[in-house]
Amino acid sequence: MNEQTKRYFLYSVMAVTLLPAFFIVNQPFTNTVAQWTLWGSAVAGYIGVVFMLWMYALGTRAASALFFVDQASVLRAHSWLGKYGTLLIFLHPILITISYSESVLYSFLPLLSTEFETHVTLGRIAFLALLIIWVTSALTRGKLSYRAWKYVHFLSYAAVPFALLHIPDTGSSYATEIAARLYFFMIVLGFLFFGLLKARDILAFNKHRYRVMRNVEVTPGVFLLDLAPLGDPIVPMPGQYIFLKHDFLSEEHPFSVTQYDESDGTLTVTYKVFGRYTEQLRRVVNGAAVYAMGPFGEFTSKLDEMPATPAVYIAGGIGITPFIERIMSEGEEREQWLFYASKSPDNATYSRQLQSALNGKMVSLYSEGIDIHTTQSERGRITAATFTKYLGDVQRYDYFVCGPVGMMDAVDAELTSLGVSGHKIHKEEFSF
Ligand SMILES: Cc1cc2nc3c(=O)[nH]c(=O)nc-3n(C[C@H](O)[C@H](O)[C@H](O)COP(=O)(O)OP(=O)(O)OC[C@H]3O[C@@H](n4cnc5c(N)ncnc54)[C@H](O)[C@@H]3O)c2cc1C
Repeated sequence: MNEQTKRYFLYSVMAVTLLPAFFIVNQPFTNTVAQWTLWGSAVAGYIGVVFMLWMYALGTRAASALFFVDQASVLRAHSWLGKYGTLLIFLHPILITISYSESVLYSFLPLLSTEFETHVTLGRIAFLALLIIWVTSALTRGKLSYRAWKYVHFLSYAAVPFALLHIPDTGSSYATEIAARLYFFMIVLGFLFFGLLKARDILAFNKHRYRVMRNVEVTPGVFLLDLAPLGDPIVPMPGQYIFLKHDFLSEEHPFSVTQYDESDGTLTVTYKVFGRYTEQLRRVVNGAAVYAMGPFGEFTSKLDEMPATPAVYIAGGIGITPFIERIMSEGEEREQWLFYASKSPDNATYSRQLQSALNGKMVSLYSEGIDIHTTQSERGRITAATFTKYLGDVQRYDYFVCGPVGMMDAVDAELTSLGVSGHKIHKEEFSF
């Protein structure tokens, strides 16, 4: 099953799991606004916890990795559901407030006056946690640092149990309908299952262990990390990436595999020091054990099914990494070009090896300086004119772009201005 089919399959399963919510909730006794809003709030409530279950599953790599190779699209589905699905969850407290003719603050205040209100307050806690997650993710994501946003996201671990706990003592359908109780317990089982997968991930049971053989600086700020397997190796295809934990408790970050040796399973990762995690990674010493998970990604995998398709790789800075193994391992059959933009010749990691592998089909672009050892070296940005100058008929090729977001958008615009169709332009972003 390809990734697209898997996605459609997943969306169908999601839709099927939502349907029972419409049938297990008691129909209104009378035809009044209060009764219908109460019915609507209960349906929205059940749909809400199922949405939370799916958001949890899609946001937990330990779960999504069992089924999907393309983590970027899984995370896009997760954030889509987070952005719009959560709005539907919010319908639950809104409709309750209307049905009970309460004040707008009803769902915000921690009322404990009766046993019923105490149980409702469990739901209020879940609602407030979700509201904070939604505001920081859907409205202010761009203004927060990656980690601040991520730590706020941990509130979902509180939202889920509180949302579930408030149902048994507040839901009237739950009290009277066996189907509602069955549906509820299936949802709880789903959370427990994904929770177990998460625990397995935290304990690194789903990871491959590697020994660090080399961790050296190759160009300013860019390091090469050689890893030898201590057990079952990961077997990546060219262009795929792994998630790396430099010790048991560390964060886990994605890096493209720049080299894979199938004779002994060794992997090479080339990373640029950006922030906290890569700062720690550069200090990892030879002999240390690290944990890896993968392989992931399908950026250039289309090429595996079309051995003769001519390919143009466009890399900005460290965005060269997904192309290295691909260029080095490709046979004679495929025509491949590389347009490699970097600050200066000293910063162009792997430049010499790539030049000899590509035999004249590499163009280097520098924002500072120029490479005096090659004629195909230019100053400035990649433009439509650069492509036509070297490629001639630009329609013949599929284009693969990886680099800073601004550079990828600019290249996309230049190619589009040349009439290259969108389905021939493939992009890999270095952040999720
Ligand atoms: C598919 C993919 C392949 C990548 N391949 C390479 C590679 O081969 N070489 C390389 O140098 N870099 C690669 N990166 C980028 C690399 O993962 C980040 O540079 C690194 O995580 C930065 O972490 P930091 O703490 O050092 O920097 P920070 O400055 O703290 O983070 C910089 C940015 O990296 C992203 N990021 C941080 N943590 C994560 C995370 N856990 N998961 C996803 N994104 C995160 C965020 O967008 C953040 O804003 C790749 C990224 C992706 C998504």
